[in-house]
Amino acid sequence: MSDHVLVINAGSSSLKYSLVDGSSGESVAGGIVERIGEAGGSQTHRGPGGESAGDESIGSHEEALRWVVDAFSSYGPSLDESDLAAVGHRVVHGGSRFAAPALIDDELIAEVKDLVPLAPLHNPANLEGISVARRLLPDVPHVAVFDTAFHQTLPAYAYTYAVPHEWAESHGIRRYGFHGTSHSFVSSEAARLLGREPADVNVIVLHLGNGCSATAVRGGESVDTSMGLTPLEGLVMGTRSGDVDPAILGHLARELGWSVDEIDRALNSESGLKGLSGENDFRELSRRRAGGDARAELAFDVYCYRIKKYVGAYYAVLGTVDAIVFTAGVGQHSAEARAASLANLESLGIHLDPARNTSESSTARFISPDNSPVAVLVIPTNEEWEIARQTLTTTRTT
Ligand code: AMP
Repeated sequence: MSDHVLVINAGSSSLKYSLVDGSSGESVAGGIVERIGEAGGSQTHRGPGGESAGDESIGSHEEALRWVVDAFSSYGPSLDESDLAAVGHRVVHGGSRFAAPALIDDELIAEVKDLVPLAPLHNPANLEGISVARRLLPDVPHVAVFDTAFHQTLPAYAYTYAVPHEWAESHGIRRYGFHGTSHSFVSSEAARLLGREPADVNVIVLHLGNGCSATAVRGGESVDTSMGLTPLEGLVMGTRSGDVDPAILGHLARELGWSVDEIDRALNSESGLKGLSGENDFRELSRRRAGGDARAELAFDVYCYRIKKYVGAYYAVLGTVDAIVFTAGVGQHSAEARAASLANLESLGIHLDPARNTSESSTARFISPDNSPVAVLVIPTNEEWEIARQTLTTTRTT
């Protein structure tokens, strides 16, 4: 039986794809179609024969996926020859309805549509990707893998906001959490590296990319996570504020006359590292900090201090912690962010080995000393493989 899954991540103006060997996790081919519906389109396809690029104007997701199918037949591998088992779609918001991946049918599409108010930017684009992929690849099963699903195990006291009860009942106001495929993959890899079953370990996962989130995982299940109703809450991110006093919103509206949309945009796109220092890219922030830039220094300190507070909180939530795992762009590559975030936590059994922490490597590894009470790990995330794995499991069990 074929294990190849075409993983599709459809954004509002881009479509990322990867043909993944579900057994090995290897991405056999993949690419991205960018600026869909905008001027100056750009496309990249990477296959066994190398990389090919295009600069066609692509007007819709349907055209984008046609470009992808053509790229597979022109540059390989042929989707037929790879014997495609299924298509796995990343869907950002599954609400309270989806605690697991699900086979896509008309009923599921209607349910995901109902969730659009909770993810107005993401779910419509995901649905568009699903709809065109089902039309163009009708002979294979399609599976939706939800970013929120891994966090559906949160207990009610962790996902409930202390706001009027009807807000949850009538409007779905609660914590959902995101980056679920990454937290799921990385926490099970952590158990594997420790030589134990996921059910036997407690892990704090720190996903630090453009978006950042922390999750407390007990025995393979998410029990708390830093992102909330939307991916704005929690850690400091590239352009998102993370936690703020909600009264700031009313204050800005009253004092500056800002609209809800303006405030929303400022907190999502003009805050975080960018708002503090003018720079959202962590590499550039590090360069500026090394050059003595005081705003970059403060941004770095705020970023790492917030991570440390979540580590402390999730340590208390879990009671005992077997591993702390860093993943995603900053988590995997910034030794200085890792060191600053976990500094002075030795009394909790958290130690870093400076040489291990600063050695560059693209593979999963320990950065704590041998026999440290809490293992500190760097594990490259692989959301595409996780989506492929979950897609295959779903097609085989439903
Ligand atoms: P991601 O969303 O996982 O692609 O992560 C993007 C973030 O990782 C950006 O802020 C990058 O600047 C940061 N990043 C990528 N590579 C490095 C690196 N070598 N050192 C520090 N930060 C990095």
